[in-house]
Amino acid sequence: MTELPFLDTAFEIRWSILTASSVEASINQALLDAEKAITQIASQSPEFVTYKTTLLALEEALEPLGLAWGKVSHLQSVSDSPELRKAYNAVLPQVSAFYAKIRLNPALWSRIKQVAQSDEAKNLQGIHLRFLNETLADFKEAGADLPETSRIRLESLQTELAELTQKYSEHVLDATNAFELIVEDESRLKGLPEHAKRAALESAIAKNKATKEKPAWRFTLHAPSMEPFMTYLEDDALRETLWRASAEVGAVAPYDNAPLIAKILSLRAEKAALLGKLHFADLVLERRMAKKGAAALTFVEDIGKRAEKAFKEECATLEAFKAAYKKTPLAPLAPWEIAFYSEKLRQSNYAFDEEALRPYFEVNQVISGLFTLATRVFGLTITERKDVEVWHPEVKFYEIRNQAKVHVGSFYADWHPRESKRGGAWMNYLITGGPKAEGSRLPHLGLICGNLTAPSSDAPALLTHREVETIFHEFGHLLHHLLGEVEIKSLNGVNVAWDFVELPSQIMENWCWEKESLDLFARHYQSNEVIPDDLFKKMMAAKQFRSASMTMRQVALAKMDLILHISTSEFSTLSDVEPLLRSKVEKHLIPTKPPAPTVIKRFTHVFADPVGYAAGYYSYKWAEVLDADAFTRFKKEGIFNPKTGADFVRTILSKGNAEDPAKLFRDFMGRDPDIQALLTRAGLST
Ligand SMILES: [Zn+2]
Repeated sequence: MTELPFLDTAFEIRWSILTASSVEASINQALLDAEKAITQIASQSPEFVTYKTTLLALEEALEPLGLAWGKVSHLQSVSDSPELRKAYNAVLPQVSAFYAKIRLNPALWSRIKQVAQSDEAKNLQGIHLRFLNETLADFKEAGADLPETSRIRLESLQTELAELTQKYSEHVLDATNAFELIVEDESRLKGLPEHAKRAALESAIAKNKATKEKPAWRFTLHAPSMEPFMTYLEDDALRETLWRASAEVGAVAPYDNAPLIAKILSLRAEKAALLGKLHFADLVLERRMAKKGAAALTFVEDIGKRAEKAFKEECATLEAFKAAYKKTPLAPLAPWEIAFYSEKLRQSNYAFDEEALRPYFEVNQVISGLFTLATRVFGLTITERKDVEVWHPEVKFYEIRNQAKVHVGSFYADWHPRESKRGGAWMNYLITGGPKAEGSRLPHLGLICGNLTAPSSDAPALLTHREVETIFHEFGHLLHHLLGEVEIKSLNGVNVAWDFVELPSQIMENWCWEKESLDLFARHYQSNEVIPDDLFKKMMAAKQFRSASMTMRQVALAKMDLILHISTSEFSTLSDVEPLLRSKVEKHLIPTKPPAPTVIKRFTHVFADPVGYAAGYYSYKWAEVLDADAFTRFKKEGIFNPKTGADFVRTILSKGNAEDPAKLFRDFMGRDPDIQALLTRAGLST
């Protein structure tokens, strides 16, 4: 197998032999094998067609390629190199085309339909019935059931949408990159934190706009540069300049996204109509918990209504604060003043500096506390193994055993930034094990990665509270995979509806806000003391600061996304959707003078991908409702209660997509989700 190392199926992956030069041969072989297997299934003579020879065989046919490709794309995320990128891009088109073709294979589809109509199918139960229904839905959603002309049209819609959304995202990126602000007068940088100032100086030097002898500071519209600038810089005129530039991203030639938005919306509406749906939101949501666009919209509107009173109060408070601070008459703020005065208000209300928490969050301490929590709540034992190959010396490898000492799965953890690693934090999986038909069980293999604060020469890695939440969050996704007890691998773990997948991850974050659990892992790295009560109180108070405004921002974004994809015809003929769209969400926006445009022309979540978050932005809030509500059981029964933990594993974590998520939630809570817990947590309950 050494000449095709990516096809090696060993559980303990030998990363050292997975070289860039072996990618193409491995993937090409896997593609050939998969194609051959699919041809065999699709050309079965009808009298031999069974659930096993068709659906189970298809699942099996896709596994080797999935395993091999999973390793290639993983390496691309954590050990990028010019050679690997070249190899990846060389095979990517064939891999994408292969996956896109499966559900448009008429012979294969007819064999699957034959199974669905057979007597055998009537007797299918549990996971096998679910698998049949999910497969049918996957194929139908891809257009397998359409007459040939419609199917061809659907394919060309997909291609066109891929191109237009790619263009949209290029516009945003190019417009963002096209702007820079060079400040030569250091006195104008008053207020800016030292780290942001240093980064701006380094950026100016790197771009040949300054030297050490003749310093200047360069700012851009990228978040790490723009956020501290808008939050802390005292100079109003400079903040205005940067804000005005950001408001133009995607809104002016040559990067104007207005025509693309209208076109993308109408193509999506056409796609929905081809597939027999009223609008794109209904198409996207059919298999999610919300089910219908209208239901998602009602949900979002409801949250908006409940936050309205507190939101108005917060806006008034901020205006009053600025008037007092500047000794000027009461008036709406300018858009470039919001972040700045919010921060000033926060400091004056809470005297709380997030940085004060860092010494309590040493990364190894946090992780060992998290493992203790996993033992107490979920009955898991997690041990590190140092005799296993990893892809980088910083990476750690762990084994998880359950109460019965069964090895349920293993995982890699790779927490700090490297140049060859992509940004952000994520969980992924490399091998899906789980129960087999004949009764045995294989372990799962997953990974969690991040770009957390790294150790420095004089201190260990001391994290922010948000970074601690990130570790807990990704660990929740990881448990969803590793604790899966699903016989059909493609239905295991995180392969669930989009508006359900964040429940296991977000619920874990709740343990970062309880004193009882913080005391397990938040210990001062020098004195070993727990977080003092007054610091904890400040942290909790600051948590709800301007929470209605943040909620309202999410409401406005989700509502824009939904109304564009529900009432598309109102918008798709407009040369610019902004004025009408803005009028529909105005009550959710912070009143400013001048009024701020919406983000619709740089809303990459919704327009940078043929589907992406389109009609799905509401999921953020939806998942928060689920996690806040589910956590109330732990609050009530004890945050370390092993019985509650076992119930969560049994009803949610072990189930993956084996059943309808609404039912899984009901199995855990004994009822449907209730919005109240989220409102309480956000300080918005009345
Ligand atoms: Zn997540």
